[in-house]
Amino acid sequence: MLGPVILAASRSDAMRRAVSAAPVTRPVVDRFIAGESIEQMTPVLAELAGRGLQVTLDVLGEDITDPAEARAARDAYLRLIEALAPLELGPRAEMSVKLSSFGQALPGGHDLALANVTAVVEAAAAIGTTVTLDAEDHTTLDSMLAIHAELRVRFPETGAVVQSYLFRTEEDCRALADAGSRVRLVKGAYKEPGSVAYLDKAEVDRAYVRCLRILMDGAGYPMVGTHDPRLVAIAQDLAHRAGRKLDEYEFQMLYGIREAEQVRLAAEGHRMRVYVAYGTDWYGYFMRRLAERPANLAFFLRSLVSR
Ligand code: FAD
Repeated sequence: MLGPVILAASRSDAMRRAVSAAPVTRPVVDRFIAGESIEQMTPVLAELAGRGLQVTLDVLGEDITDPAEARAARDAYLRLIEALAPLELGPRAEMSVKLSSFGQALPGGHDLALANVTAVVEAAAAIGTTVTLDAEDHTTLDSMLAIHAELRVRFPETGAVVQSYLFRTEEDCRALADAGSRVRLVKGAYKEPGSVAYLDKAEVDRAYVRCLRILMDGAGYPMVGTHDPRLVAIAQDLAHRAGRKLDEYEFQMLYGIREAEQVRLAAEGHRMRVYVAYGTDWYGYFMRRLAERPANLAFFLRSLVSR
């Protein structure tokens, strides 16, 4: 029952200030976050590439409060893309963005976020790669999917994330599973009410399988975002039944979670992409990782008292 409490804390400014200022030992945060700058993140990128892993890069930031911050978030991605260009990784290094960091929640935010993300998608395309729009809380989803549809007119390979805990997601999967689409399916990491989402873990898992079947049977490119060994096995089975080759879908996991499994899947010939988050605004992302697994919270608390 700790998860919902931590998720509530992840949206609290007072908690953000307290935790960010706390003497958190770096190893705890570093387990999930690949540094605070491009320079600190780059060796992680090289190490993952050396293990045969692809990446999707997230410059941390969300819930900004004015248009200047949204422009700064856009510029941070543009600097990242500039730094990636000489590495010539192409689609092996793509970007994940949260539209809330591009101003989506501000007045006129839909258009602002669309303008900011378009600049990033254009720059990514110029170095031969793509962008995936992360899914945030359910109130932002209609706007995210509308922006995704607009981006796909010029950049059809732009990806979108869907969350199996939402009742609406099976329908969204059907709408998104068209030729050329790239859809990442995850369980969902936000605190959602029972009016829109399954609250029971087993129901979320069952919905995940239903969504996975729609995506695997569809014409798009499914991106299976989970660390759950049962769902990984089911995805392999559904892909096989749908006649998909190993390069016609991919697995995705978060940096720092089930690393041996990431390497195992890549060694078996699967496309395995690691979601690598870096930057200074790590609080919300870090708290969601704590909420997913009570053992992480215990580890975090122990590190505070053992200083
Ligand atoms: P779970 O049942 O939670 O976990 C299965 C097993 O994985 C656990 O038993 C444990 O061994 C391991 N594990 C899972 N989480 C952790 C953890 N934090 N620490 C240590 N071990 C762990 N959510 C969104 O709402 N929007 C997004 O855009 C989004 N993007 C994502 C991108 C990727 C690539 C991935 C992998 C996840 C993303 N998520 C996103 C998070 C997702 O919604 C889940 O909260 C998260 O993946 C945990 O669910 P699970 O499928 O791994 O299954």
